[in-house]
Amino acid sequence: MVTRKSPAEIEVMAAAGRVLAAVHELLAGVAQPGVTTGELDRVAEREIRRRGALPSFKGYRGYPATLNTSVNDQIVHAIPADDVILRSGDVLSVDGGVLLDGYHADSAWTSIVGGRDAAHDGVANLVEDTREAMWRGIAALLVGNRLGDVSAAIGEVGAARGYGVIAEHDGHVLGGHGIGRRLHEDPLVLNRGRRGRGMRLKPGLVFAIEPMFTLGAPGWRITQDGWTTQTLDGRIAAHWEHTVAVTEDGPLVLTARADEAERSAALLAC
Ligand code: MG
Ligand code: MG
Repeated sequence: MVTRKSPAEIEVMAAAGRVLAAVHELLAGVAQPGVTTGELDRVAEREIRRRGALPSFKGYRGYPATLNTSVNDQIVHAIPADDVILRSGDVLSVDGGVLLDGYHADSAWTSIVGGRDAAHDGVANLVEDTREAMWRGIAALLVGNRLGDVSAAIGEVGAARGYGVIAEHDGHVLGGHGIGRRLHEDPLVLNRGRRGRGMRLKPGLVFAIEPMFTLGAPGWRITQDGWTTQTLDGRIAAHWEHTVAVTEDGPLVLTARADEAERSAALLAC
């Protein structure tokens, strides 16, 4: 069931989003070579609780941690662990969720551990292009557009640059989603689609927009831990995500970090 949120509900979600943004800003500084993903998870949980919120992911369908920390060929949903030590040049996706006053926010970023120069240009471009696809999708979250316009805006970036666009594979689906009182609500937001198709966008709809692209083929599998999703061909993947409300005044990014304010305004203006 698709639910529309009132302005008051969106403001609560924005408060959750601000907590999550602050946690991500902290984690971006911690994610250095030599640090374990288990340590990232402890920092995140401590910070979320210190701010009076709860980690959305912990306990979700039995998920054991606060974050998803997906490295290199892991696309999403990898479980943090103390034996996963970040190395210079690793491509790290950090995904987190925050529950505050009954509402969730969900967002993710990808970076190259040790800095952009620690990886080949092709890898750095994948990370930046996946981020751009997220902003293209967000920019299409306009009243009167259809959901297919959002999916197409995301998928076209990936296709034009030759990436594998992660979507359906072998009967399973990965993509964005509605969000609110539940972490995952209808509808599913595929990362590829056709313009003019799908539900009409109305004020009060709130979506998690989350492109996943890979340097190789778009096939993926879930590993034996039941969570980790990785590329079948072992190629590197990137993943970005924001929680965004559709409003009469345009898309409102509820999880934007301080360093993104300018970027989001510029992209949304075009
Ligand atoms: Mg997420
Ligand atoms: Mg999500």
